[in-house]
Amino acid sequence: MASGINHDRASMKWSVPFGLCINLIIGSPYGLIAGVTFCLGGLWLSPDLDTCSEALKKWGFLKLIWFPYRKLIPHRSLFSHGPLIGTTIRIIYLNICLALLVAIATYLRIIPEIQLHIYLLESINNNPKLFITILLSLEASAWLHLIKDGDPLPNEFLSWWHKYK
Ligand SMILES: [Zn+2]
Repeated sequence: MASGINHDRASMKWSVPFGLCINLIIGSPYGLIAGVTFCLGGLWLSPDLDTCSEALKKWGFLKLIWFPYRKLIPHRSLFSHGPLIGTTIRIIYLNICLALLVAIATYLRIIPEIQLHIYLLESINNNPKLFITILLSLEASAWLHLIKDGDPLPNEFLSWWHKYK
């Protein structure tokens, strides 16, 4: 299992070739977006947000939003370190936190009322390639993390696989 610093270094190092590959496949500016998202995903949306980690420290005072996540998701479980599942749960969790913050800010009249889900759906409809690039890059950075951890599939998945195979 790699340390937090090793994960950070790998995320930064592999973001460049990943971005170049996406640039070759999809073109510009998606390669740049993929490289930056890959790096940010590895540094800030790491599977290790389920424990006190380097990724968690980077959130500063906002790391408080990850407290319920850390309490609900056991460290290195299928729900944080599972392929596809981990990234999906973190993105959904972050969107719930964002929706709550917007709702509070709207209630306190700090910002005008906005329909966040409608804005999000319109944004996806207007540029699906951008959202696919972002999601793919976040998942790829999670895969790098899982590979660096040494066991890409968490134990729960492996025991389930052996049971039903
Ligand atoms: Zn990990």
